Amino acid sequence: MEREDYLRRLREINPNYKFELIGEAFDFASKAHEGQYRRSGESYVSHPAEVSLILAALDMDDDTIIAGLLHDVIEDTSYGYERVTALFGEDVAEIVDGVTKIEKISYASKEVQQAENFRKMLLAMSKDIRVIIVKLADRLHNMRTLEFKSPPSQIRTAEETMEIYVPIAHRLGIFKLKWELEDLAFKYLHPQDFKDLANRLAQDRTSREAYIEKIIGNINEILLDSGIEANIYGRPKNLYSIYKKMTLKDRAFEEIHDLTAIRVIVKEVGICYAVLGILHSKWKPIPGRFKDYIAMPKPNMYQSLHTTLLSEGGDTFEVQIRTEEMHKVAEYGIAAHWKYKEGQRGISSGSDLHWIDQLMEWQKEMDNPEEFINSVKMDLYSSHVYVFTPLGNVIELPDGSTPVDFAYKIHTDVGNTCVGAKVNSRIVPLNYRLKIGDIVEILTAKNSPGPSRDWLSFVQSSQAKNKIKNFFKKESREENIETGKESLEKNLRKYNLTLKAALTPKVVEELLDKLSMKNLDHLYAALGYGGIGFRQILPTIREHLIEEEKTLHIGKSRSGGSQSGIRVEGLEDLQVKFAKCCNPLPGDSIIGYITRGSGITVHKSTCTNFSKGSDEMNRFIEVSWDMESSILHSASLKVIGRDRPGLLNDVTTVVQNMKFTLTGVNARVNNEQLARIVVSFDVKSAAELQAVADRLKILPGVVEVHRL
Ligand code: MN
Repeated sequence: MEREDYLRRLREINPNYKFELIGEAFDFASKAHEGQYRRSGESYVSHPAEVSLILAALDMDDDTIIAGLLHDVIEDTSYGYERVTALFGEDVAEIVDGVTKIEKISYASKEVQQAENFRKMLLAMSKDIRVIIVKLADRLHNMRTLEFKSPPSQIRTAEETMEIYVPIAHRLGIFKLKWELEDLAFKYLHPQDFKDLANRLAQDRTSREAYIEKIIGNINEILLDSGIEANIYGRPKNLYSIYKKMTLKDRAFEEIHDLTAIRVIVKEVGICYAVLGILHSKWKPIPGRFKDYIAMPKPNMYQSLHTTLLSEGGDTFEVQIRTEEMHKVAEYGIAAHWKYKEGQRGISSGSDLHWIDQLMEWQKEMDNPEEFINSVKMDLYSSHVYVFTPLGNVIELPDGSTPVDFAYKIHTDVGNTCVGAKVNSRIVPLNYRLKIGDIVEILTAKNSPGPSRDWLSFVQSSQAKNKIKNFFKKESREENIETGKESLEKNLRKYNLTLKAALTPKVVEELLDKLSMKNLDHLYAALGYGGIGFRQILPTIREHLIEEEKTLHIGKSRSGGSQSGIRVEGLEDLQVKFAKCCNPLPGDSIIGYITRGSGITVHKSTCTNFSKGSDEMNRFIEVSWDMESSILHSASLKVIGRDRPGLLNDVTTVVQNMKFTLTGVNARVNNEQLARIVVSFDVKSAAELQAVADRLKILPGVVEVHRL
């Protein structure tokens, strides 16, 4: 594109620009891109020139027009930031620099394919929202000329446009760009659907236009009758929104009536409602379709009244009613605030505040709106780096930040237990300087000794610095060791253990190895600041105690098998005793209890003779009967009955007749003539004992038989 050509086209859009300066910018860009060509064969400068014309059509200010001309200069050529600043001012250089930075982030990386976060990042990065507007114009021109690219690249660019840039344009309310971007992306993503729909629309365009013209004429008439001045016109809806309606709501083309929206633009807000009243009295409104975006603006600042009416012919049509001011915002969104005004720079401080308020509004859904607004303040120089968590959340950090800054930004505990970091899936040193778009993963270890003093020499954020210092202040090592040791002693006491008895050299060795710690002080310190808990130490201690018991009793055990008739999971030849309180027999449900110095005591699991407090629970161990064992167990039954001659004899006879060897008999009679006989004999199982009890119960005079 030639200089004169460009300036003429710009003048046609708006005669109030500073053409001299803009001409210089055009020359600067031509020179910078000399010898570079677009795929279309045109000289490269035609691209930035077209971009700046798109920006002019959005009524952007001189700085933005110039930035549009220069937007690829810093990236593609040796013409740097300083020269642009010197020639065109800091604002222009900042915008160009911002666009260049966005260029460097790749949405294509698999990890960052969370479009919403990517969009947030782009917006957050742009201290000056004009950066995004230039980027949108750049993308629009690239989409317009997409036919010159290879098919795979067409699809990729169209996808990215649909996922990233269309929603941004929507958010910023720049519908003029949004609709065109959307339709262009649609054309490449669904070529056949696009073609079909375009053909359909072309087919009955004439009749549709006639229909709309008739309604517009009607509206014009009734508004004139009421003395209302209005600008009324029809705008065909963009192809993609029709397509979306057809696919989302599963409608046939014929069923879509509001292919064209009718706009009524009036002078004042009050008149909008007056027009609405007049239209509703003339045509029947469709219930549920009226929307008052004037009283309740959309987050992207859009204001308008929407209503759908039923025509005489039975067709429906949509009407949008708004003021001229609202219409500007509806078309240009946030860009409307840079509306070019003669003899005045684009942004007044008043409107500046206004759009920051609006940004606040629509950023409410962001995690931290305050932080966001700090970052969109125009006068701030970009001194932040934006990186991702592995889940794709955006984290903002000062320039030069390291994984340690990142870790502390996530959470103090993450920082304090940080032992390493991965950036883009590769291990990096902790003093690695994060770059924009990096995906950062912090490796933590619960038993980490805490932050290192070295970290203070490279962290950038005051947050990280303070937290590290705090750690050393609050949690000094000596104190930690002391506290850790005390708490361990206290916990061991509950098990009747002393530090010395529990922490044998072997136990210490194994613990340090398991927790990857250097020495016992290290372990105490970790316990002290809560890096590890007693629960992580207890199992090792317990294992060793059991091991000890094993060696103590190994000499006593005779040849193989389970001498006691009890199997203990994973252990053999343990000394096993049966609890006297509940005297378990083979077949009873049982549990083992580790006793200090005497192996395992087996209780019935229903035994209530010991507490099952949470600490004690650590000493229970699963045991089971060795059902092949033929060991005899001593058992006793208590028989209660009315005393009569021969009762005692009957009881002992039953036991002996059932081939059990009596080991003891004890009988008493109280003054109520009730006999209590305790009979003891050896059995192999609880079932055998039960059989005897059942037999005794049927003896004359017997009232109860209890197992003892
Ligand atoms: Mn470009």
